[in-house]
Amino acid sequence: MHKLTTYLIAAALLCSHYLALAQDDRAHKRVSATVPGGIYVWEVPQGATDIRFNNRPVWVSQDTALIGIPLNQPLGSAAVQYQHEGKVLAHPFELTEKTYTEQHITLQNREMVNPNPDQLARIREESQRQKALYLRFTEQALTEEGFILPLEGRVSSLFGHRRFFNGQPRNPHSGLDIAAPTGTPVLAPSSGQVVLVDDLYYNGKTVFLDHGQGLITMYCHLSEQAVVEGSTVEQGQIIGLVGATGRVTGPHLHWSVSLNGYRVDPNTLMTLLPAPTSN
Ligand SMILES: [Zn+2]
Repeated sequence: MHKLTTYLIAAALLCSHYLALAQDDRAHKRVSATVPGGIYVWEVPQGATDIRFNNRPVWVSQDTALIGIPLNQPLGSAAVQYQHEGKVLAHPFELTEKTYTEQHITLQNREMVNPNPDQLARIREESQRQKALYLRFTEQALTEEGFILPLEGRVSSLFGHRRFFNGQPRNPHSGLDIAAPTGTPVLAPSSGQVVLVDDLYYNGKTVFLDHGQGLITMYCHLSEQAVVEGSTVEQGQIIGLVGATGRVTGPHLHWSVSLNGYRVDPNTLMTLLPAPTSN
């Protein structure tokens, strides 16, 4: 009898332990968003190395790969490439459709819609430089701190909107817009290295952060930048203040998140790498 009771208590304890584990697992289960502009989560098989997508190295931490999918990736079958025991292998996955809505914006400043040749040359040069920054891949140790929002405020435009400026089609919206009064502090969502501080034609006063493993973030339209190129920042550190510089209709932060050189939905990254306290 005594033995049986002990056994039952032990069994009950074990059960509750397993239940807690299962719930814990569910809470931390990372769900892929296998859509253009999404992130594919891949549990890396043991021994796999040199994991790539579209021939670019991808973000890997603790046997999980986060793979950025570009907005223009064709629907249907896609594949992750990797090496295993000297062989190059492919892991296929399916890409499903996501319809992003149209957004029509009216700008009073016509030079922000139809720049002159000099301005176009500047825009092209800046675009090349930004592209190169997004392709950075630094080994940089990853931390367990996850991501916090750089700014609390009203979301004024979602990632992926198909945009029209004064009726003319332009590139889709490559970030998340959060509106806040000019001067509101913008925080580093995670630790990283400051790889650009500049004043760009469309993006205005801008800061780029490199968080390692091809995870790069960009902060635009700032009224002031509070960091210098080459320095490192801690999570929560002020990197600048909200403003209305560049192509804007009012003060807001444009926040872009990039994985393996492709802009992805910042909201998706926030669900995949939440800071432990914001869980
Ligand atoms: Zn924006």
